[in-house]
Amino acid sequence: MALERAFIFLGPPGAGKGTQAKILARRYGMPHLSTGDMLREAIAQGTKVGLEAKPLMDRGELVPDALVTKMIAERLESGDCNNGCVFDGYPRTVNQAIDLDHLLQWRGMGKPVVIEFRVPADKLLRRLSGRWTCSVNGETYNIYEAPPKVEGICDFDGGKLIQRPDDRPEVISERLAAYEFRTRPLTDYYWRKGVLDVIDGSAPMEDVTKAVMKIVRRIGGR
Ligand code: AMP
Repeated sequence: MALERAFIFLGPPGAGKGTQAKILARRYGMPHLSTGDMLREAIAQGTKVGLEAKPLMDRGELVPDALVTKMIAERLESGDCNNGCVFDGYPRTVNQAIDLDHLLQWRGMGKPVVIEFRVPADKLLRRLSGRWTCSVNGETYNIYEAPPKVEGICDFDGGKLIQRPDDRPEVISERLAAYEFRTRPLTDYYWRKGVLDVIDGSAPMEDVTKAVMKIVRRIGGR
């Protein structure tokens, strides 16, 4: 059953947004829109956007608003988001949020459902520094909390696990600072609009999924 709503997963890097966004999107057949994944894809393809984004991403800084919003606007054009979608890592600044409001209104997608994932700083550091990703299928692991069966190897396809360049300790602190200064104000922005739900992102993964589903049921999903 389509939910016909745009979900926005808000929270610092390492809060579990990506994992939960994938679960929700899969369960309801909605597209999962991660600007981080789109940018990494652009870098891998060597596009103009990729070339512009790479040095900023490597330093843990945000890429310009206009660049990500254009990417999202083009993605929404394809029409498969009209029955709902999950935004993960977008918007990240108040300007992006304002742009997204306009885009959603323009496409008749109504008010978003915004879920903020709260996680204490020490836990975020542990999650980010322990995160390894399959180089083949993008599956993520955490060497402390959810390790693969064999060290360095993906459980599903045997792919080599790699660490994201921006999950190195010196970059992590920059990304957390970018969240504090540029993205944190969004919680206030959405709270004022009456569309914000807050959940405990530090709970075990299944419990976080349950908390997300509780919100889904409240808005009429099953
Ligand atoms: P993520 O995979 O969401 O952690 O994003 C990785 C990096 O991509 C971030 O540290 C930023 O450099 C860049 N990025 C992703 N989404 C955005 C966004 N909405 N606005 C600006 N920069 C972004």
